[in-house]
Amino acid sequence: MSEFSELNRIARQLRDKEEYFSTNKLECLQAFIRDGGNCSYCHTYLFKSYDMASATDHLIPRKRLKKDSRLELMWDIRNLVACCAECNQIKRDFDPSEGEGFSSFDELLSEPNKRKKLISKAHERIEKKKKDVNWASAFERGKARFREAVEEYHRSQPASAA
Ligand SMILES: [Zn+2]
Repeated sequence: MSEFSELNRIARQLRDKEEYFSTNKLECLQAFIRDGGNCSYCHTYLFKSYDMASATDHLIPRKRLKKDSRLELMWDIRNLVACCAECNQIKRDFDPSEGEGFSSFDELLSEPNKRKKLISKAHERIEKKKKDVNWASAFERGKARFREAVEEYHRSQPASAA
């Protein structure tokens, strides 16, 4: 995979020279550089917060890779895309290869137009879900229940001897 060797070199150099990136997985950093630090789905620039290091998504989800015994593709940079936390949370296990005619994942991930189609399918799915009333209300409900859980936790703790 010579097309990626330059990317690999650049990512390695960044990781080796900059303390901030020293614990980054090299493959994620490569995907991040290739994608310009923008979420591949909503195009938000991600390098605004400390957690950008973990902001990658598996295009073909790990659940599917596991099912097809192709776990080696998990950290294949062809299968990694820069992704914001929101899109990641919404996409979850959605598999954009579902329903596509193909002979192997490698074919889907290696041919630029096919890979692009996977990204755009995932993007459509995410946008649709963002507009979905049920999804939005599930989020609001989740937020409220979370606050309740935090309060319940605090109530369950013995008062500290101040
Ligand atoms: Zn996004």
